[in-house]
Amino acid sequence: MKIYNTLSRRKEEFVPLKENEVSMYVCGPTVYNYIHIGNARPMIVFDTVRRYFEYKGYKVNYVSNFTDVDDKIIAKANEEGVSSSEISERFIKEARKDMADLGVREATVHPKATEEIDGMIEMIKTLIEKGHAYEKNGTVYFRTRSFKDYGKLSKKNIDELEAGHRDESHALKVSGEDEKEDPLDFVLWKPKKEGEPYWESPWSKGRPGWHIECSVMSKKYLGDEIDIHAGGEDLIFPHHENEIAQSEAANGKQFARYWMHNGFLNIDNKKMSKSAGNFFTVREIGEKYPLMVIRFFMLSGHYRGPINFSEELIKAASNGLARIRTAVERLDDLYKKAVSAELTDAEKETVDEAERMSKAFDAAMDDDFNTADAITAVFELVKLANTKVDENSSKELIEVVKGTIDVLLDVLGIDVEEEKEMLDEEIENLIAQRTAARKERNFKRADEIRDELLSKGIILEDTRDGVKWKRA
Ligand code: AMP
Ligand code: ZN
Repeated sequence: MKIYNTLSRRKEEFVPLKENEVSMYVCGPTVYNYIHIGNARPMIVFDTVRRYFEYKGYKVNYVSNFTDVDDKIIAKANEEGVSSSEISERFIKEARKDMADLGVREATVHPKATEEIDGMIEMIKTLIEKGHAYEKNGTVYFRTRSFKDYGKLSKKNIDELEAGHRDESHALKVSGEDEKEDPLDFVLWKPKKEGEPYWESPWSKGRPGWHIECSVMSKKYLGDEIDIHAGGEDLIFPHHENEIAQSEAANGKQFARYWMHNGFLNIDNKKMSKSAGNFFTVREIGEKYPLMVIRFFMLSGHYRGPINFSEELIKAASNGLARIRTAVERLDDLYKKAVSAELTDAEKETVDEAERMSKAFDAAMDDDFNTADAITAVFELVKLANTKVDENSSKELIEVVKGTIDVLLDVLGIDVEEEKEMLDEEIENLIAQRTAARKERNFKRADEIRDELLSKGIILEDTRDGVKWKRA
């Protein structure tokens, strides 16, 4: 199996630290709002990586955190006049719901930064003892130049960084810059400001920096050395570069052997982000499309490339998924009616073809998780099912073809048999038909439509301004 390693900038054969086991850490979201579909991309991509490892027989220890202490969470809490933990707990719950709807399986552990503060204090103490960190007025900084490999992941040159930093801090007068030994040093611990959540520490009442959180959570749940560390490509610098510096300086071992990064989900060729305001939440999209369509859309492109979000591409994904669903349902129907029999020669050939397509799927996934080509193999299987399986096929043949499709869809986390939620468009269509029926005084038909909608959880209300509807 080959994985593109950001550390070496090439595809490498995957060799796990422990035979048949994979330890994997994926940086999770900062929880101050609903997750947007950009945040959903790493979740879907790395959940699929995990599923593929499991299909290949590996035991995967999969850790993904929630960043639940952060300036943005505090700002949101102040805005609403509630505590930070109320905000983070609320949005962790909402994120988990979205993840489940996207087919993202629960991690082995989902640590929360605020529950791991002791470990962070310990690692910071070690870094100070080893001369990699220092305290100034209650703030602890990492001494960046003390880590000789700094820049090895992002391929940044430390002197160029330094020059850039100097210009920036002159221009912006970044607070705290003057107390650092070096502008490149970054924060490990900072004192609280008025009204902020805080923890006791040897240096000040305060809270950890973002980077130290992941170094510590990864160490606690996976050990000093792990197989894979992953996240979106915006995390390469400074987040992952700083994690490497902290972990390797503290533990004296290589932190992660493979670094995987997904490309951006863009809108109009710009990265979707909360700060730019050009985002759709998973929840919003879920009102228009079943979220399986979003998962299928994400996996239709290679995880390292950018993907541009557009209504047309989502519609295309929706159609593709429907094609698979129809084929699977047809196989189910045929299976019910089929009888058991020995495979004919022609059927044996179909079984061989299915086997070849399944191998093509594996070959695509073995090549740095090329889900786009893997999906092509699934479509080949669908075509095979539609052309080579019919009323005369044996139960045995249908079992093989359907079984192969099921297994591969499960690796991709695509569930085509889930109950379809009604789309806004379908609802509006039915309401229009009902209005037309009433105009023609066909009240029986109008009531039928009302009942049909009700059975799908859609409640109609006849108002003076026309028909309004809501989901139960
Ligand atoms: P954040 O909540 O911003 O820390 O992001 C959580 C995860 O989502 C990180 O792995 C980010 O790299 C990733 N992410 C954020 N925005 C995008 C985007 N537009 N496309 C792909 N990944 C993203
Ligand atoms: Zn992280």
